[in-house]
Amino acid sequence: MFRIIRSGSDGLREEGNATEAEATAMLTRGLRLRTATVEAHRRGAIILTWTVYRLSAMPIQRTVTAEPFGRALTPTMYAALRRIGQAPRPRLVDDGRILALGEDIARSTGAHLFTRQFLARSGRDEVRLALPARLALLADDHRTRTTAPHGWYWPADRGMSSAGLNKPAGRCGRLYDGTSWAGCSCGQLGDYADSRTAAAAKARAHRQQVTAAFVEGLCPPPIA
Ligand SMILES: [Zn+2]
Repeated sequence: MFRIIRSGSDGLREEGNATEAEATAMLTRGLRLRTATVEAHRRGAIILTWTVYRLSAMPIQRTVTAEPFGRALTPTMYAALRRIGQAPRPRLVDDGRILALGEDIARSTGAHLFTRQFLARSGRDEVRLALPARLALLADDHRTRTTAPHGWYWPADRGMSSAGLNKPAGRCGRLYDGTSWAGCSCGQLGDYADSRTAAAAKARAHRQQVTAAFVEGLCPPPIA
């Protein structure tokens, strides 16, 4: 079950609940019908954002957030979800443990993940990752970062013959380097931008790109 929050720059604020199937349908339809961006978050949430253009009026930003209930996942829970996601046939045994990749996942960890609906039953004893778990792992696979720009420097420090800028406040003779690097833990992004803002935009675009690819590949969940 997801909490669904609809909000807009025009003051719209609506909340409701959605099942995994309803949230999946909402995401796939939303991305197909609108020029929207989507971004997964490590807590298992996903945010769909788009702009509504109107005649003779300011455009409106609309956002739909689908988020699981409960607190953030612990490292133990992430590890359990990853193991279950990688196992060819993770299954629940009678005492509540989950067997995945030849090892047990503790009954308490499994119970937490079932209660919060990160895990679902599939068939008689098989366990599958529910949509919040898949979103959490996707976001965990794509943790981006940007580096702080070097800032003001003396041209001679870099072997340059420039006289620098004629600026007050102690900047006289120095040059500004605002370059920032954007990278992702997946290794697919590693690029410089002219400013940290531009680097953050590159990182965000990467996260949105991988989330959109994930949503496009979503199929309706199997009937339990
Ligand atoms: Zn990535």
